Amino acid sequence: MPERLDHFMSRAVAAYYAARDPFGARGDFTTAPEISQAFGECLGLWAAVAWQAMGRPDPVLLVELGPGRGTLMADALRAIAQVMPGFRAALRLHLVEQSPLLRAAQARALADAAPLWHDRVEDLPPGPALILANEFLDALPIRQFVRRGDTWRERFVENGAFTECPAEAAPPLPEDAPEGAIQEVSEAARAVAAHLGARLLAQGGAALFLDYGPANRGFGESLQALSAHGAVDPLADPGRADLTAHVDFQAVAEAATAAGAAAQGPVPQGIFLQSLGLVTRAAMLARAAPASAGMQLSAAQRLIAPEGMGRLFKALALCHPALPTLPGFETA
Ligand code: SAH
Repeated sequence: MPERLDHFMSRAVAAYYAARDPFGARGDFTTAPEISQAFGECLGLWAAVAWQAMGRPDPVLLVELGPGRGTLMADALRAIAQVMPGFRAALRLHLVEQSPLLRAAQARALADAAPLWHDRVEDLPPGPALILANEFLDALPIRQFVRRGDTWRERFVENGAFTECPAEAAPPLPEDAPEGAIQEVSEAARAVAAHLGARLLAQGGAALFLDYGPANRGFGESLQALSAHGAVDPLADPGRADLTAHVDFQAVAEAATAAGAAAQGPVPQGIFLQSLGLVTRAAMLARAAPASAGMQLSAAQRLIAPEGMGRLFKALALCHPALPTLPGFETA
């Protein structure tokens, strides 16, 4: 039986994260918080400034979506405690994570902050919230539609290969597309953005997404699978490799603004992180530990350089419409 691509991807991603900790040099891929502690520290300070702009609500939810090993949040909490102890005292930590294995890693990394876990964004308790998410949206399932003649067909997976079937209850798609064009749609990412948009409007707060993808939607396929830092066939062996797709930032922003929230960005990650002071922070770390100075500086460079993660990765904030321009979005 052919399986719709989003169903296949959802199953593959859940099986993948349930069975392993994939991060780092010996794993399948590396993420920004695993590259430099300055990344999580800067995001913690971003949340602290946003908390001030909200009028310092106490208590306030600090939420991370897809926290991986908990590294980003551990770095963020350390920076917050140093710079804004009032925010540290007011915050209640909530994590959205499906993998039991990664929940256990997060429990070890974040024991001091007594986090509470949830399976889905919709399960978070109410209240003003600051939400961080790095490489979360790219793991959410996508559908792929292919232009054939004057209709869109949909890609299903059968025996490790794509097969084109009539599109099932398709979302709105462009009327005009060249023959063979592929349009990706993540209904899951749009649903998360719509839910957060309504929530931020009603209860206040801001959400910061860092992920990779173009600023504006286009045709093309971006589904990819990584294993041991190399590309492998995404359909061959569900659950064995990390499956991701480019984030459609335009669709995420539109879903949140349709629900009443404001969107700031997207801006390239390099510009965003430089404006948050990542390079200065890396230079401080380098001075404090000369033995690893070269490593600190090249890690910051990798996060910021356009040919590294600085351009393809973007930062997008969703927030209550009354909030001012948030740190890093001054140029947007
Ligand atoms: N933010 C971390 C990890 C990124 S990997 C980092 O930057 O290192 C993606 C993370 O999202 C993992 O923790 C994975 O288990 C989680 N995840 C993936 N799909 C999810 C879903 N549908 N619901 C909740 N968490 C999910």
